[in-house]
Amino acid sequence: MTDVHSKATRSYNMAMIKSKNTKPELIVRKYLFSKGFRYRLNVKDLAGKPDIVLPKYRTVIFVHGCFWHGHEECKIAHIPQTRTDYWKNKIQKNITRDLANHQKLKKAGWNIMTIWECQLKPQVRQQTLEGIELLLQKTYLGLYKTYYIPATPHLDQVAEPHDSYDSQP
Ligand SMILES: [Zn+2]
Repeated sequence: MTDVHSKATRSYNMAMIKSKNTKPELIVRKYLFSKGFRYRLNVKDLAGKPDIVLPKYRTVIFVHGCFWHGHEECKIAHIPQTRTDYWKNKIQKNITRDLANHQKLKKAGWNIMTIWECQLKPQVRQQTLEGIELLLQKTYLGLYKTYYIPATPHLDQVAEPHDSYDSQP
């Protein structure tokens, strides 16, 4: 049996394949793409450079590593027992920065979704992905309402004179 790859190359390739397939934001992206969602990636002029941007849904998605972004009460986000203050400080800074970015985005009219790495573990992945999809659909319907309902308060009565709206119960 011949093997074209040296052992080193092969294990490098395996590591690459593994990291690519398990990269949390890639899991989310692949799922959304397969469901027909179209998005932009790492848009630089948006605060915090969100991982996934869905302009049609006016939504940005951050896929966060639990440790670095300080996921509360999460096992993966466990602070090391050595240099505890150093880590706490560092992660607190990340949390503060994330919050500031969220506020900027909200002000600019974006909906924000944060997906945590632990929510993409195999046991819970499907549930999480379906949850994102559902939330996007709801968001879309919400936007639809905001833009169109006020213009026609009673959709089944649009043919009536405008004044009659006031007398509706
Ligand atoms: Zn977590």
